[in-house]
Amino acid sequence: MRYLPVFLDLQTGPVLLIGTGELARAKLRVLVAAGARIRWFATEGAHDVHGLEPAQLARIEFAKGDPLSVDLAGVVAIFCAGAGDVGVAMALRAKSVGLPVNVMDDLAHSTFIFPAIVDRGDVVVAIGTGGTSPVVARRVREKIEAVLPARIGDLARFIGRFRKQVHARIPEMPLRRRFWERVIDGPIGTLVLSGHKDEAEAALKSITDASAFAGADASGKAKGHVTLVGAGPGDPDLLTIKALRALQDADVVFHDALVSPEILDRIRRDATRVPVGRRVGKPGIGQEAINQLMIAAAKLGQRVVRLKGGDAFVFGRGGEEIEALRDAGIAYSVVPGITAAVGAAAQFEVPLTFRREALRITFLTAHKADDADRVEWSSLTDKQMTVVVYMGMTAAASVRDGLLAAGRSAETPVGVFARVTRADAKAAVGTLEQLPDLVAKVDGGPAILIIGDVVAHSAPWRRQNVSSIISDLLEAAQ
Ligand code: SAH
Repeated sequence: MRYLPVFLDLQTGPVLLIGTGELARAKLRVLVAAGARIRWFATEGAHDVHGLEPAQLARIEFAKGDPLSVDLAGVVAIFCAGAGDVGVAMALRAKSVGLPVNVMDDLAHSTFIFPAIVDRGDVVVAIGTGGTSPVVARRVREKIEAVLPARIGDLARFIGRFRKQVHARIPEMPLRRRFWERVIDGPIGTLVLSGHKDEAEAALKSITDASAFAGADASGKAKGHVTLVGAGPGDPDLLTIKALRALQDADVVFHDALVSPEILDRIRRDATRVPVGRRVGKPGIGQEAINQLMIAAAKLGQRVVRLKGGDAFVFGRGGEEIEALRDAGIAYSVVPGITAAVGAAAQFEVPLTFRREALRITFLTAHKADDADRVEWSSLTDKQMTVVVYMGMTAAASVRDGLLAAGRSAETPVGVFARVTRADAKAAVGTLEQLPDLVAKVDGGPAILIIGDVVAHSAPWRRQNVSSIISDLLEAAQ
């Protein structure tokens, strides 16, 4: 991010517009709509007000003289649109006195850029692309326009009106935030968004115990809660809507090392983030310590998120964590995530089940060779069973040997799928015999192993076949 979005207060002074023609008029319209007072210097002769309404004209001061020498005291910002060389000269002057300046379509001379705007009154969304692509900005704007309720600005204003009153009734900030969340997410918010402000106001005023409405316990404190959230395998677009909401509502997030930075980016900015995971070769703080941290935070009334890669209940120790929470009497909920196997299946087109070919799936873990020694391989020899191995990279040779010794065919298709759903995802496919070599081909983890006939339907397998047919043909042609 090179450009920081900020919102200028247009009540504090005029803005200067330098320029002429349709470009200047387009800027005028935006600035008038934003409520700016505009001092307009037309660079080429007369001010051409073609197409502007009288109400718009009322906000415009038709300035005379040379903008390069006028007094800039109190000016909020300077816009140059269709100003030619004067715009460039004005930019230099603005920079010399530290005033924000935008020269249209000229990043080199601008100190700020103009965003695409979604305007809902008090709710304004500014969209920037670092000046690279107005078309992308427009597309983003369309998407936001489509999802933002028309009266979202009314809702902000409504809350603004009662802010002070509620502040007085609930001095404690976390509880107050919850009060407003319940207002916004509940019937009162719905009333405002559907245009029934008076009824909404009556409903808000009828709340007698504001703390209880906000979900406080008997002592008037916010109630703590832990949400176990499955973050999925890496792609932030694979977060569920519930997961996203939990991340946005969290006071504190305890996260694993496996959770990708793009997903951590979705956490509410003011939330505390605590990495608690262990990485390969480095110990974490330990499960018992994690449990105690979560319990302590929840007891302080915090909204805690325990964020884990994939799904919390698939080799994620989620079961142990909720047991500890139950024992401590802490309220909790669980939001599922897309487990690595399912992410790999979708990305690389491995149907985990397939009509008569694959009727069963087994998820197992083989973290170390001795884990692999404990697996009952004879239960996994069924040709119609797809076997998915988590944490199986280092034990790949033991997995292969175990399955072969139990009688699964050496020709069974297998795949190693690394960093699935991330930008650097990689797959290697082959036969069970080759499993350890395939692990070496994916350039590091995390990776899962999928073993079973269904791997022969996968995209990398199909590609491999095409390339081997081509090389056979080439060989034959030589
Ligand atoms: N709860 C997680 C699994 C945690 S165990 C889930 O449901 O996915 C950690 C193992 O998960 C890793 O060793 C690896 O086998 C697998 N894994 C996690 N993220 C992965 C990813 N993005 N790509 C491939 N495998 C992954």
